[in-house]
Amino acid sequence: MAGPHVVVSRKGANRIRSGHPWVYRSDIVKAANVPAGTLALVVDEQGRRLGSALYSDASEIAVRLLSRTALEPERLVSTIRERIREAQAYRERVVRDTNAYRVIFSEADGLPGLIVDRYNDVLSLQVLTQAMDRQEIRDAVIAELAELFPAAGISERVDERIRELEQLPPRSGGLIHGEKSATTIMMNGLQLRYDGLSGQKTGAFLDQRENYAAAARYGRGNALDVFCYQGGFALHLARVCEHVTGVDASRAALEAADENAALNRDALGGRDIEWIEANAFDLLRGYADEGRQFDTIVLDPPAFAKNKRSLPTALRGYKELNLRALKMLRPGGTLVTCSCSFHVSETDFIEMLAAASLDAHRELRVLEKRGQALDHPSVLNVPETSYLKCVIAGVR
Ligand code: SAH
Repeated sequence: MAGPHVVVSRKGANRIRSGHPWVYRSDIVKAANVPAGTLALVVDEQGRRLGSALYSDASEIAVRLLSRTALEPERLVSTIRERIREAQAYRERVVRDTNAYRVIFSEADGLPGLIVDRYNDVLSLQVLTQAMDRQEIRDAVIAELAELFPAAGISERVDERIRELEQLPPRSGGLIHGEKSATTIMMNGLQLRYDGLSGQKTGAFLDQRENYAAAARYGRGNALDVFCYQGGFALHLARVCEHVTGVDASRAALEAADENAALNRDALGGRDIEWIEANAFDLLRGYADEGRQFDTIVLDPPAFAKNKRSLPTALRGYKELNLRALKMLRPGGTLVTCSCSFHVSETDFIEMLAAASLDAHRELRVLEKRGQALDHPSVLNVPETSYLKCVIAGVR
């Protein structure tokens, strides 16, 4: 074989045949004439073609399949541009009630290593691989995005840890196209500020957008939003609840949440939200001791399981939180409980919740089992694309 190609072991080949786009470095037998971040033909040890992939010479994920047929290198740029257009067309079909959504979700859109979020007229771009970092590819991505969203500014978010893992030179984030970097987005009838240069991920978690609306379908009475960040759930609940308390450990997040509340004063019917800066575990313990009661509680903690090894500890953390929340919910109340840890499966999560319900002596009736918003597509044969769990349940 003359052209650039990667030979993968039987295990690697089976993985690709099972529908997954990745081959780990340990399953690479040989990489021949493949410069870092370029396109290569992928074959098994018998020389059978498995497709074309982008190759990394640094990452543990050495091969990311781009196509299950052989793709000529001269078609790489046009293929990427076409997939960007397809990704946006898909969003036009599935996204409702917002001008803020994920336009490109890496493997889920056949664009491994690329993430693009749209916040109204500001786009946020993240490059996660050697291939997507190549200037030729960057130029093509930016040109296509600029055609799709002519008025938009594009800023880049840089994850230094990922650049290190891919052995890419350090890079500073910031505006890379156009002029606009801050804007106001609309989501489910609420307005939220977004600043692409502020460093912090701002506005709201786009993957929770549909869950915010779902929570507002059931929420009522006295509500508590634990791990509220910039108030995504709290603001949505404030339209339907009598009183809302938002809790987070980050003061900066709460300040942004308060600004968002002010921006929506009319939509919230003048209702104030109380923001409390605290460690959620301590606060819940204190509330329980005081005998505080709520009708609606949202739990949306950061990912407790960063890897497989930390799963048991993570599940104990989730259980403690859910147990405390269940004890504070009045009969007839609603629990909205989330986990964004990929390593916690939906089954693990439901089992944890069932155990918490048993320990709390409270029966839970599932109203909705939900995942991430549709602009973060879940691909069935690529489990890594599904990470968010959100259960809404009524408490007896
Ligand atoms: N519900 C939010 C997203 C939550 S992200 C939304 O929809 O926008 C997780 C949040 O947990 C972050 O804002 C982080 O500041 C906060 N956090 C992390 N550890 C915490 C702790 N021990 N106590 C309180 N907040 C914490």
